[in-house]
Amino acid sequence: MSQHAEPDYASLTATLAAINARIEVATRDSGRPPGSVTLVAVSKMQPSDAVLAALRAGQTCFGENRVQEASAKFAALRADWPDLRLHLIGGLQTNKAEDAVRLADTIEALDRPKLADAIARAADRAGRLPDLLVQVNIGDEPQKSGVPTADADSFIERCRTRFGAKLRGLMCIPPVGEDPTPHFKALAALGARNGLEMLSMGMSADFEAAIVAGATHVRVGTLLFGER
Ligand SMILES: *Cc1c(COP(=O)(O)O)cnc(C)c1O
Repeated sequence: MSQHAEPDYASLTATLAAINARIEVATRDSGRPPGSVTLVAVSKMQPSDAVLAALRAGQTCFGENRVQEASAKFAALRADWPDLRLHLIGGLQTNKAEDAVRLADTIEALDRPKLADAIARAADRAGRLPDLLVQVNIGDEPQKSGVPTADADSFIERCRTRFGAKLRGLMCIPPVGEDPTPHFKALAALGARNGLEMLSMGMSADFEAAIVAGATHVRVGTLLFGER
């Protein structure tokens, strides 16, 4: 038995093509032009080899939810893959803001004033500010990250004042076990009335519904890379 079994990524190229085809169909169904939706390949808990296989298959945008893991996997790839874009998704601890600002192209987890403070301070020190998405707790679940829906408009306004055009949009994760479409529509409405163009919503199980509701970014992990 081999001690260093190579994971089998032979099918990853075909899987990626199939997901991209489904994204195209849903984009058309949403009445938008082809290419309106970006696939964020969620590579958390997947080895660097899986990321490399996806890059070789043409995928450029990746999502991770732990800063340290993201840094270990992606920092070294930047030189060889200049088109690579890294999104940090899921809850972000304030004490990770410094590393997040240095590493990420987009932070999808802005959900409270203290984190906004930490990101602003880190951006001053680092001399760079990633694109920012406000994460909305769209189902107002007690255990979930995200600004409560009742506070969302005012928090978005504060973030716009502070970050200007770097505040690009909204992100949400609907409650498990509910029809996600009303939640996706609620996020789209919130984005529209605040003039925000990016909507990161939809995962492996519901990305097509998210696109039909207006998603510009879908975050797909399991369907592309397999179980974590
Ligand atoms: C893990 C994760 C995903 C990907 O979920 P899959 O069901 O594996 O596609 C998307 N968004 C966030 C915030 C995640 O943490």
